[in-house]
Amino acid sequence: MKTIVLATGNQNKAKEISQILGDDFEVLTMTELGIDDDIIEDGDTFEENALIKVRAVNAQIKKRDAIIMGDDSGLSVDALDGAPGIFSARYAGEEVTYTDNNLKLLREMAAVDDDKRGASFVTVIALLFPDGREETCEGIVRGHIARDFAGSGGFGYDPLFIHEETGRCYAEMTEAEKNAVSHRGVALKRAKSLLENQE
Ligand code: IMP
Repeated sequence: MKTIVLATGNQNKAKEISQILGDDFEVLTMTELGIDDDIIEDGDTFEENALIKVRAVNAQIKKRDAIIMGDDSGLSVDALDGAPGIFSARYAGEEVTYTDNNLKLLREMAAVDDDKRGASFVTVIALLFPDGREETCEGIVRGHIARDFAGSGGFGYDPLFIHEETGRCYAEMTEAEKNAVSHRGVALKRAKSLLENQE
């Protein structure tokens, strides 16, 4: 069985990743291994930030045969030149709530016409293998920004993101429905196939 160490302490992410990867992989979080999770994500892209996370864990990890996995995600809105992008978690400032970020997004988008409200949710997953090799894979999902909140599920920008393919708001989906179509789900399935094709 291969061991994957996640460059996150978030147990919800760990659970989702473990479910998608299946029984051939043991998934541990950096918190479970006592690795400091205070990583400064100062990259300019999702990819750079995902790599910064796996490298930071690699510098501290004692379990040398593990594969390290890190991810970075965010929402890029066409009419806002890609914002909030890598700043998605702190769009309305430091120490803000998801609602603060969503209210700012609604304000910024107030004057934007219906046909110009397109947006992408992006996840980049970085993998760092025991031999030092690095790989990244991406999941991008298109949608548009609603004019008001909908649904009660999910987190972050879910209540404002209408998923193009299904026409449904992320926050109206069950966790399983969202995982089956989401940017993170797509990136994770790509990462799984990369992992399965390693000796
Ligand atoms: P992270 O890199 O996965 O921690 O995501 C950074 C930020 O992007 C989060 O704090 C959310 O604001 C936003 N985000 C990422 N993925 C999602 C999602 O699936 N739904 C809603 N917001 C998300």
